[in-house]
Amino acid sequence: MNNKKYRFLLTDLDNTLLDFSASEREALSRTLSSLGVTPDEQTAAAYSAYNDSLWKRLERKELTRDELIRTRFTGFFKSLGIDADGCAAAPLYEKNLSGTAYVTDGAYELLRRCRGKIGVYVISNGTARVQLPRLSLSGIDKMCDGYFISEHVGHAKPDVRFFEYVSAHIPGFKKEEALVLGDSLSADIAGGAAFGIDTCLFDPNGKYDGDGTVRPDITVSDLYSVLDILHI
Ligand SMILES: [Mg+2]
Repeated sequence: MNNKKYRFLLTDLDNTLLDFSASEREALSRTLSSLGVTPDEQTAAAYSAYNDSLWKRLERKELTRDELIRTRFTGFFKSLGIDADGCAAAPLYEKNLSGTAYVTDGAYELLRRCRGKIGVYVISNGTARVQLPRLSLSGIDKMCDGYFISEHVGHAKPDVRFFEYVSAHIPGFKKEEALVLGDSLSADIAGGAAFGIDTCLFDPNGKYDGDGTVRPDITVSDLYSVLDILHI
């Protein structure tokens, strides 16, 4: 751990402040049930993997956000040979997802302790019509100093233009006084590092093995540890 004094925290939302996996499971289960598909664990795991692969392709700019949202269920059903209406599933799933928010252990404590000391800004690659209700539902919108959703910004993490936009819209922002916190090596850590901001990987399940080209400056397994890094 370093002794640096940070004044700004740029934090990811999904699977960082919010337990996206829990929301995803719930929204998927509701959506599949509505379409007459049994929401068993295998189907849920297959969906999660399929969806993750699409988001990675989005990060690599191999498909657009609209294409992802529009086609993910048709593609997923096809990949598993499930005979269900993928076009009907997309809006249903979004509606179900936007109505669920599970806050990660330590997230409220982190936001409360930062208040008045560290500027906290949410940086999220999600879809605005899903993320805004979830920010509001969790109360995080009122506990942070601002939020940036890639759909509004016009660029997504890890694109440096996303971070340029964020830095230009935070009063008094200095990248050398900022820390990026997130669970994604490819989006949060790679993006923050490329823009020249210190990075902190949130790795609750100890998946990161320290290998690879993208290396976070700091790794934490719980959000309470971020309090020590920020010295608050
Ligand atoms: Mg995330």
